Amino acid sequence: MKVKIHKGDLVELISGRLEEKGKRGEVIKVLPEEKRVVVQGLNVRTKHQRQVQSQGRTVNPGKVRFEASIPVSNVMLVCPKCNKPTRVGLRREDGKVTRICKQCEAQIDE
Ligand SMILES: [Zn+2]
Repeated sequence: MKVKIHKGDLVELISGRLEEKGKRGEVIKVLPEEKRVVVQGLNVRTKHQRQVQSQGRTVNPGKVRFEASIPVSNVMLVCPKCNKPTRVGLRREDGKVTRICKQCEAQIDE
C-alpha cells in the first residue's frame, strides 16, 4: 500500500497517546519505506544531548525538542473542504491521479 499522505498535508492523530489524540498538525516529513510521518507539534520528544568540547570549552546544548515519527496508520488526512479527518480516495483523470476526500468527494490536490 502506497502512503497517501504527502508533505504539507494537515493530519489528525486518530490513535496513539491519549493526550495527543485528536490533535492536528502539518506533515513535515514522509518516510515511505517505514510508512511513518513526522508531524509538526505532534509526538514531540526531548533528546538530551551530551556535552561537547568546542574551542577548549565545554558546551552543554541541553535538551533538544524534536518531533518523532508516527505510523501512517495512526493519522488521518484532514480534508481542506469539510475539515474532517477522512480516508483518501484516488481519482484518475486524463492520466493524472488526484486525491479525493471519501466523505465529501472534494478534490484534495490542486
Ligand atoms: Zn471532505
